[in-house]
Amino acid sequence: MVDLQAVLDSIYKELTPRIGEGKVADYIPELAKIDPNQFGMAVVTVDGKIYRAGDADVPFSIQSISKVFMLTLALGKVGEGLWKRVGREPSGSAFNSIVQLEHEHGIPRNPFINAGAIAVTDVVMAGHAPREAIGELLRFVRYLADDESVTIDEKVARSETLTGYRNFALANFMRAYKNIDHPVEHVLGVYFHQCALSMSCEQLARAGLFLAARGSNPMTGHSVVSPKRARRINALMLTCGHYDGSGDFAYHVGLPGKSGVGGGIFAVAPGVASIAAWSPGLNKVGNSQLGAVALEMLATRTGWSVFGD
Ligand code: GLN
Repeated sequence: MVDLQAVLDSIYKELTPRIGEGKVADYIPELAKIDPNQFGMAVVTVDGKIYRAGDADVPFSIQSISKVFMLTLALGKVGEGLWKRVGREPSGSAFNSIVQLEHEHGIPRNPFINAGAIAVTDVVMAGHAPREAIGELLRFVRYLADDESVTIDEKVARSETLTGYRNFALANFMRAYKNIDHPVEHVLGVYFHQCALSMSCEQLARAGLFLAARGSNPMTGHSVVSPKRARRINALMLTCGHYDGSGDFAYHVGLPGKSGVGGGIFAVAPGVASIAAWSPGLNKVGNSQLGAVALEMLATRTGWSVFGD
């Protein structure tokens, strides 16, 4: 077994001169204020050991990484019936693309592009007031991370509510196709709050550990999903987790992963560890520039890959 702390230390040291690369997401005004000169990484192994580097304890806006947790809740509620509402194919287009939705009659390609995630949120809201659905997600993530201090950044949620025109367009479009059951403002209220979950790399890696460990969190003993469901969520992250950068991420990193425009990337080495990397500067397709580089270095140095040794 490689010395994971030494690997993380070397990655941090080598990337330090590059911290600040990329461009912070500025289409959400509150995210535009984030200092780009930050980098953190955390690895939690299935035997419960935690390794950290850099700003691993600094909370950041997890944005689209939250779609993995909402998807897990939705599958728990409606099971495979979810796939009537959303597809399972990579989109090959931007996370907020509108044009594809019309071609496909309001059924989004996958649960990780914005349209798909909004439909998934609508599913989780069934039988709940919006506030209750937000509470359910927050409780779920705190339970997964085993950390009651995880919060939602209200300022980020408000900022996106005021400027999320494209998301309103996507949701209205799907409502026209009857693929959204609740009022659009309610669904997006929940969606913007889920995206505004604020978590550190360590909290994120802990929360996602069940996906590396056959659906159960070995640190808490909590059984979250079946092994089969964990595999399937990982399959979706691998094929769709980085939008039209998914092929590139599979090629360079070789692990299922999910990115967010807050600069976070969550990744899974099945049977071995869960990983979170964060640096706010993004590349052209909206994924953390240094986060992806750091994960590639980690995968290379540990030999972790779902494609072979
Ligand atoms: N809240 C963001 C949005 O809807 C999430 C996008 C992302 O992280 N890729 O635009």
